Amino acid sequence: MARIAVLGAGLAGLAAADTLTKAGQDIVVFEARDRPGGRVWSEEIVVQDRVCTIERGAEFVLHGYSAMRQLMAEHDVELVDTGMSYYVRTPGDAPSVITDDMVAAGREARSVTRQLGGARSAEEVLSRLELRREVVDALRARIEISTAVGARHVTADALGQIADVEPKPSWRIRGGNQRLPEALAHALAGSLRYRSTVRHVVNLPDGGVVVATDDGSKVFDAVVVALPLAVVRGSKDISLPRSAERDVALARVVQGHAAKLHLPLISPPTTSAVMSVRDRYWTWTAIDSTGTVAPVLNAFMGTSAAIDRVGLRLEPQRWVRKARALRPELMIGDDDQVVSTIWSDDPLAGGAYAAHAPGNPSSSGPGLETPIGDVFWAGEYAEPEFTGLMEGAIRSGKRAAERVLEAVRHNTTGIGERTRA
Ligand SMILES: Cc1cc2nc3c(=O)[nH]c(=O)nc-3n(C[C@H](O)[C@H](O)[C@H](O)COP(=O)(O)OP(=O)(O)OC[C@H]3O[C@@H](n4cnc5c(N)ncnc54)[C@H](O)[C@@H]3O)c2cc1C
Repeated sequence: MARIAVLGAGLAGLAAADTLTKAGQDIVVFEARDRPGGRVWSEEIVVQDRVCTIERGAEFVLHGYSAMRQLMAEHDVELVDTGMSYYVRTPGDAPSVITDDMVAAGREARSVTRQLGGARSAEEVLSRLELRREVVDALRARIEISTAVGARHVTADALGQIADVEPKPSWRIRGGNQRLPEALAHALAGSLRYRSTVRHVVNLPDGGVVVATDDGSKVFDAVVVALPLAVVRGSKDISLPRSAERDVALARVVQGHAAKLHLPLISPPTTSAVMSVRDRYWTWTAIDSTGTVAPVLNAFMGTSAAIDRVGLRLEPQRWVRKARALRPELMIGDDDQVVSTIWSDDPLAGGAYAAHAPGNPSSSGPGLETPIGDVFWAGEYAEPEFTGLMEGAIRSGKRAAERVLEAVRHNTTGIGERTRA
């Protein structure tokens, strides 16, 4: 049995810890927050005497989430159909564009992306579309909202995943997405240390890794670093092993920035999904665990430029006013019940999620998971296919754990020597 530390109790770290625990390894998970889940963060608010679960972070369980579904089945966590589609959004402030235009534009953009080959920027692909300007603008807005990055700075590959516009269903976890990290944390029993901020991770010359927190340091046979991109890329609060290869790989991913808003609704809504092309956000109402539509208007804004433009930090009510104007058919309740979340201002997240920079096919992803000494890497940013998403975090975490187990089995990096001695 090897002694392994996992840093971060987001879905990547918890998926790694789950795999390692099932394989009989001795693990400790260090988490800076006082809850599991990281960017999966469910909260309850009371609207019209009804308890509603809002997702301040990740919301939708999307098409192809096989690893997440498997983990959910193993931990008795269920899905609820939201009754609306993450993929289909009516451009509310571009009335000449209908959702069918968006689907057709998305198909053409994917075809152009394939013809061009390589990882072209979304903007380059958009510039080649022979479509009405309003339709191209709406597709640009959709890409920028969902990737949380400007279209010049992200690959058009996003159209096949996070910015996909093909109509498909979308789900949430019954009782809130945080049920999954909570179930995973529960299964780890005493191995999870909350309020444990990791400050240093250092490979020892003869194998093994020192992990230092504010409470002291310990040596492990291997470490899985499952911290967010902004933290591993160069936070002043932590020092991690580096390599030239890893620096190159890290430069190929871009950090997305996003914020969310939850507004109480007075009248019971139907399901809906309406986006603002101009202000780079979308709003939706969805079915929750009760089987009826929750009286909450959810909103997600993508890109740091959009967040700055709306002045969210200085005057949050401006976004509220804009949402009221975008959705005049809804009766939105009092401003004092509005919940806003800016992930870029959270030092333990440093942004929303990652995307691929132009010029780098998503197959460049595995470089981000290449171990340095006995230090292994996981996180949504490191996943080539489901980059930025819960599914990506889980896949990456499981892969990191499998790599550790492989190293333990073959004793290739000196892992396990100390424990066997
Ligand atoms: C607003 C928003 C909306 C989203 N919507 C969706 C969606 O609809 N569908 C979807 O699939 N995905 C969505 N995502 C993305 C999803 O949340 C992430 O991809 C996923 O949760 C990332 O998991 P992770 O484990 O890689 O990182 P995290 O969840 O960030 O986990 C990393 C953990 O490390 C901890 N940590 C940081 N620094 C330290 C330290 N020094 N020491 C110890 N611990 C530390 C953090 O507290 C955190 O718990 C959304 C994200 C955001 C922000």
